[in-house]
Amino acid sequence: MHVEALHNDRVFERLLLYAKKHPDIWYMVMIDYENSKARAGGLKMSEEEYADKVLGRTKILSGIAKNIGLHPHLYIPYEDPLSYEAQKNEISRVKGLFDQIGIRASHISFGYWTWDENTVKICDELGLKIHKRCMALHDYDLMGEKT
Ligand SMILES: [Zn+2]
Repeated sequence: MHVEALHNDRVFERLLLYAKKHPDIWYMVMIDYENSKARAGGLKMSEEEYADKVLGRTKILSGIAKNIGLHPHLYIPYEDPLSYEAQKNEISRVKGLFDQIGIRASHISFGYWTWDENTVKICDELGLKIHKRCMALHDYDLMGEKT
């Protein structure tokens, strides 16, 4: 599952219920203030509040779900790939945030399933395995289900 709206209280609540029933699947967490802000039509929280909330909730999720990974959105499929440096900065940033909360990430998946040969090289360097296309579910999809 791609977890992209942990900042949202209702999504988080629904996600925890789902994770309790499905602790074995992979939960790939996006931590990206600008991306979340763009989608939500403007977040009502600062970047710092967002990071605290999303990281705190990732930690809680890691107490329930067995497999938590990184989920950066690097670029969209019809754009030119980001440079090696820009990709390395972003992947290192999200990996560093997980390190801060004591989660040593081993797997990564990318927004829009988009990556290139530089991404593969960077992930090798950082010891991250790339999850290939296998999960189409998003955390916010849970909002359409009845409990
Ligand atoms: Zn995504």
